Amino acid sequence: MTTSKTVSPVVLKKHGEIAVLTINNPPVNALAKEVRISLATCLESANQDPEILAIVLCGSGKNLCGRADIREFNTPDREVKPMSRDLMNLLEESKKLIVAAIHGPTLGGGLELALGCHYRIADKLASLGLPEVQRGVIPGAGGTQRLPRLIGLQPAIKMITSGLPVDANEALNLGIVDLISTSDLLSESIAFARNLIANNSEPKRISAMKIEGSLEENTKLIEENRLLLKKNSPGLSAPIHALESIRNAVMMSFDEGWKAEAELSRISMASDQSRSLVHAFFAERQIHKIPDISSDTILRPIKKAAIIGAGTMGGGIAMSFVNAGVPVTLIEISSENLANGMSRIESNYKASIKRGRLTEDEMSRRLSRITASTNYADMRDSDIVIEAVYEEMDIKRNVFKEIDRFARGDAILATNTSTLNVNEIALFTSRPESVLGTHFFSPANVMKLLEIVRADRTSDDIVASVMAMAKEINKVGVVVGVCDGFVGNRMLAPYFRQGDFLVEEGAMPQDIDNVVEEYGFRMGPFRVSDLAGLDISWAIEKRRAETRPLDERFSPLLDRICQLGRYGQKTGAGWYLYEEGRKAVPDPVIEEIIFARSHEMSLNRRIIEDDEILQRCLYSMINEGAKILEEGLAIRSSDIDVIWLHGYGFPRHRGGPMFYADLVGLRNVCDTLDKFHKEWGDKWQPSGLLRSLADSGSSFGEWDKKQIKK
Ligand code: NAD
Repeated sequence: MTTSKTVSPVVLKKHGEIAVLTINNPPVNALAKEVRISLATCLESANQDPEILAIVLCGSGKNLCGRADIREFNTPDREVKPMSRDLMNLLEESKKLIVAAIHGPTLGGGLELALGCHYRIADKLASLGLPEVQRGVIPGAGGTQRLPRLIGLQPAIKMITSGLPVDANEALNLGIVDLISTSDLLSESIAFARNLIANNSEPKRISAMKIEGSLEENTKLIEENRLLLKKNSPGLSAPIHALESIRNAVMMSFDEGWKAEAELSRISMASDQSRSLVHAFFAERQIHKIPDISSDTILRPIKKAAIIGAGTMGGGIAMSFVNAGVPVTLIEISSENLANGMSRIESNYKASIKRGRLTEDEMSRRLSRITASTNYADMRDSDIVIEAVYEEMDIKRNVFKEIDRFARGDAILATNTSTLNVNEIALFTSRPESVLGTHFFSPANVMKLLEIVRADRTSDDIVASVMAMAKEINKVGVVVGVCDGFVGNRMLAPYFRQGDFLVEEGAMPQDIDNVVEEYGFRMGPFRVSDLAGLDISWAIEKRRAETRPLDERFSPLLDRICQLGRYGQKTGAGWYLYEEGRKAVPDPVIEEIIFARSHEMSLNRRIIEDDEILQRCLYSMINEGAKILEEGLAIRSSDIDVIWLHGYGFPRHRGGPMFYADLVGLRNVCDTLDKFHKEWGDKWQPSGLLRSLADSGSSFGEWDKKQIKK
């Protein structure tokens, strides 16, 4: 090493005749405008230095280069020259050979940067990909033009339209990289560059390559992929735009395709889908910030868990822990129930083995982490005790008294109740400050969402520790307050109510499901209810009947269907008929029940437009969400979005219900709610918060920002 010149945040160092350019922009070396400017300057210096014969481009820290800087999306900074796409061309046009040294996650703009280089070496742990479609945009810095030229059309379509990364070995097989480093990446990259010089190798410029295959074969392949995308990702525009851009790579010269890519990239970036997906990305990062709990709160380590009750939920919760390597003591009321619970867990694992997702060995390892017991004393050494017994206050009272007796003094005590008051449950113990709700979703081993229910007296470190635990066991933890149904189910209730009312007034279940599915949900409210089991909602409804105000509109349709023993898919019939497995078929029996109900209400059934169906389903839940915010039961509107994205299948490309309301405009939402209120009274009155935000031209997003500043 001789001389050195520093141009932050890219550093140029001379290693004899090789210039090493190191990107240094923690945490992920994103291509922010400062990095782009600095890299272009260093490149120019290296190219003008007569002592330099080749260049190695590498990254400090975790990776070569993470991606374009997502914070620059939809801001003028993104346009600052050189833009990422110009930078890749500058690299490619360099007269001196450039070798990209790739380590860590090299994604999006990072991989496009490497594709602008002439050769690529990857560390064996590197991952490479173009995940832009997952944020609703397309690779816009030459990725859609260079990758198909380098690796062929079909592999490039797969990588770009799925957004999924490949590991170093696959990258080598596909031809994305020329070599995998086996020891020190930088030394090997320098040696590789010297070797190229010694062999008088020419720069390999991908833009000059031709895509393999005839025009006819390639256009056919594109059309086949277009059909597949429409089927597998309905409604998503970014994969289709990406495919269009790849098609340009087939049909046009590099320069033309590159220009057209910029336009497609601009269109996708300006789309509501991209804004929604970027919102979802940031919303998921926000959940960890709990304004009144300091980030340096000392956490209680959770290395062992006890779960009381090995039923549907207890079994799934136990699996979540042992899947993440945390041992569990599973405690049941009787040996028989315990054996049943254990065999359900085992058969769940066996189903995964059958699908090729788990090995026998791994299943044995996971099962060996569960200690089954019928003795409460066996919870003694656990850091957290989670109760998942029947949903009855008296039973919970007895169980929590036992937990209080046997759990360690510093243990976290949690209930998985979905409808009971966590404040009341906490008072069954002598240590209410140690109690909180952990509301897992069914199936608990699969569903990502965990509502972390902070009760009135729960101590801060307990909340913070369970947030950290959620991450450890691969859940998305969101802090919520105590209220009926917490956040998710409380908002679900008005959404389902509207479904029933729409049916009474003129729509059929399939009309509503179709509209909601067209919007992007995988299943509408009626198909979901049939899948979950109508008996569960029936039981909740019966319990609530005692407290329901007499003048409140109520639909008895669920009652009537359940009275026929139709509990949904599991009984072969519910709102629909299921004669062929899971295929929901409209049933004349249901039609008759619905028509009779409309008649009994003296309602003239009418044709209900799709817009009205969608607004009534979504705005009822949004209004409830606004009330939840107003009551301080969720920290941010974006937390509510995360709950709906991970617990209820809200379409990610819509961002979540509250973000969707912002996109529609709160003025529009509020006016529609007023109109509905005038027409149906009932619960349509807009929440005070929603109205005041609408009146001041604000949004839930703006409201969130103010909460953080408080
Ligand atoms: P479940 O009926 O499937 O299982 C309850 C289990 O608790 C049974 O195996 C029973 O033997 C056991 N049990 C009862 N009393 C016990 C005691 N004193 N000591 C030890 N074990 C005892 O019920 P579930 O569906 O797993 O629900 C459990 C809890 O989770 C409930 O509070 C429910 O509201 C909540 N929850 C359920 C769902 C869901 O979809 N099923 C979703 C979220 C939350």
